[in-house]
Order: sequence, then C-alpha cells, then structure tokens
Amino acid sequence: MKDETICLHSGFSKDKYNASVMPIYQSTTFRFDSTEEIAAVFDDPTKAHIYSRFTNPTVDCIEKKIAELEGGIASMCTTSGQAANLISVLNLASAGDRILSTSAIYGGTVNLFAITLKKFGITVDFIDVDSDENAIQNAIKPNTKAIFSETLTNPSLQVLDIEKFASIAHKNNIPLIVDNTFPTPILCKPIEYGADIVTHSTTKYMDGHALQVGGVIVDSGKFDFTKGNFAEFVEPDESYHGTIYTKDYPDCPFIIKARCQLMRDFGCYPSGMSGFLLNLGLETLALRMERYSTNGLKLARFFKSNPKIKEINYPGLKDNKYYNLAQKYLPKGCSGVMSITIDGSRDDAIKFMDKLKLASREVHVADIRTCVLHPASATHRQLTDKQLMDCGINPSMVRVSVGLENIDDIIEDFNQALK
Ligand SMILES: *Cc1c(COP(=O)(O)O)cnc(C)c1O
Repeated sequence: MKDETICLHSGFSKDKYNASVMPIYQSTTFRFDSTEEIAAVFDDPTKAHIYSRFTNPTVDCIEKKIAELEGGIASMCTTSGQAANLISVLNLASAGDRILSTSAIYGGTVNLFAITLKKFGITVDFIDVDSDENAIQNAIKPNTKAIFSETLTNPSLQVLDIEKFASIAHKNNIPLIVDNTFPTPILCKPIEYGADIVTHSTTKYMDGHALQVGGVIVDSGKFDFTKGNFAEFVEPDESYHGTIYTKDYPDCPFIIKARCQLMRDFGCYPSGMSGFLLNLGLETLALRMERYSTNGLKLARFFKSNPKIKEINYPGLKDNKYYNLAQKYLPKGCSGVMSITIDGSRDDAIKFMDKLKLASREVHVADIRTCVLHPASATHRQLTDKQLMDCGINPSMVRVSVGLENIDDIIEDFNQALK
C-alpha cells in the first residue's frame, strides 16, 4: 500500500466486535487461561500482551503502522522523543563504548549525549554533518557502536547525506541511527537510503495537534549484529532466561532486545489512550505533510522577497546550501519549519514576535497551527550575544513553524508584524 492508505488502514484490522475504529485498550494487564500459557508468553514475549509497561494492544497497532510507513520490520513506541533516542543508543552501547554523532542536532539530544550519557560511561564524539568520508572514518574508534544523526536537523535545517553516513557505518560494521522527526516517513524514508534504526519525536508532526509528547524507534531489520562487535545481541541474555536475540529473533533482534531489556527496566511506554491520540494524527499525516511543505515553500519565498529579512534558512529554496541534498532526500517537500533572521537587533526580533496576531509564541514546532520561537529569549537565553553567534544562532533569529491555516492569512500576519 502507498503512504496515504497505510496511514488510514494499517495496524488495526479487526477486534471481536468488528469495531471500525481502533479501540483504546487502557488495561494495564491481561488474563490467561492457564499458568502454562503465562509461562509460554514469558518464554516468547511476541506471543501475547503481558503488561502495559512494555506492550499494549492499542500501542501495538501504532507500532505496526509506523514500521510499515518507514519500511521497517518492527517498531516500539516510547513516552517521548528523548526516551526513543536514549533507548536506541543504550541498546547498542554500554559503559566504555562510544557513539559518533553529528553536532548540529536537537538541543535536548545534545544534552542527553554530552552530559547524561557521560554519567553512564558512554562517550559521544561529535562531528560536522558536512565532514568528508575520511574525517568521518577517522572519528570512528574500535569501541564506537553507532553513528547518530537527524535527517533534517532541528533547528539548523541541515540535510543529512544518509547514503554517505550509512556506507561508512556499514564498512565499520556499526549501525546508522537517524532521527527522522521533521520529515516523517511521508517526506523521507531513511531506511531506503541505508539507515538501520530510525527514531522520532512523535510529539511533532506525527501527533501534529500538540496533544501529547511521544516517541518511537523503528528497526529496519537489515543490520547484521552477528558481524559487528555486539556481544549482547549474540550471547545469551541472563536477564531474559538465556535469550539470544540474533538467534531467537533473527528478523528484528534490535526492537525485541530494546523491549525485553530496556523498556522492561525503564518503563517509559505510552498508554492505550496515548496510542489512540497518536493514531488520530497519523491518519492524516500524509495529507498534512504535503500542505506543511507547500505552505512552507510559499512562506519561505515571501521572506526571501522581504527586505526586512536578512536571512531565510529553508532547504527548499534554490540558493540554500542544502538544496541539492533536499532535492535528493526530500523531493516531496521540506516540511514547514524554517528560520529567519530579522535585519535588526535582538530587540527588533522580540518586537516582531510580539506583533504577530495569528502565529503563536510557543516552545514547540511542527504543529498544526503556525508558531514561532525566539531562541535567544527562550531555549538559549542563558547565552550572551557572542556565545549565541559562536553556536550559529543570530540574536535576531526567529524559528518559524508554519501550520495549516490558509497561507494568505499566514503571510498577511508576518507581513503586518514586519511592518
Ligand atoms: C523534539 C525533538 C526531540 C525530543 O522529543 P520529545 O518528544 O520532546 O522528547 C528529539 N529529536 C528531535 C529532532 C526533536 O525535534
């Protein structure tokens, strides 16, 4: 099936009442007819649902739908994008190991990698996304367990050359993890270009309606863990009655291991109600991504032609540094996120923000409604102007996330605020 159809029909097919809409299984627990049946499910957790700390029938439907959209074999939902990225990395690396990550990624992930993972004994090395193959190869050490990056980075909007990073990762027998939050599988399917694991903050476009925080990890099922240096995948797991993930679950050892070990222990699993709400967003995802992208391009062109805008960063514009990569990896559109730099001071940017009537000021992106954020007053407010410039953020830069309002109304609002 094509994306539009998967969004509507995949995952849930039928329950015992023939409900046409996926039901909410809010139950934490599930009954078994015999003790023996419970024992069998403990031996093979893919047989039935045991406990909603790590599986749930409603969430299971969503996991099947997202895996199918990404072209993966299986997926696991989490209660946030942060949890998805944490688990995807901890499933591969232990104390003493390293991860190689591109540097201009989501600030929350940078903090998780640089500060919190360090406390776990895992070192993350950072590299520029535009590095050449030699530089990337040289940054991989014998104990590097994965490469991590974002398809379209938040907030700097760099486009990842997925094939380049995948080929270097595979030469070194390590998987490539790609956070595909901004494009969603509608605009880009990283697995088609060689990514092994795909993560998302479903809080953004997938949910789309600003209803709930969530995340997901998708397993391509393509990485061969028996070839690399991944003892936990090929040796018996003493914490799970001797399971050997690559032998007992050869199709998707990554997701099964993440669920059996990390979700079991951390318990950051969404409820049935959360799965139901996320599904409402997913049903219209294909349609919405198309419109975010056409609205995004029209708004970017308006900013491009406005003399009060010093800079517009949107990879769908021809003179953008990442235009060619965007044409390759995001041919259907570049989503609705862009950043603009006002020709003026930090105060001028604040004045402009406060004059907006339709677009709302929010610490959020990728919503159904247009919203804006001034990083210098919000996410990066502890930094001086000089420190801001050092990390590539102009004090008069504003991040814009275009929504699904009529584009004429959106442009009119930005125009009057700029005036
Ligand atoms: C928001 C975001 C995250 C974190 O997700 P939460 O759902 O807020 O925990 C991770 N990666 C990217 C690219 C994001 O935009």
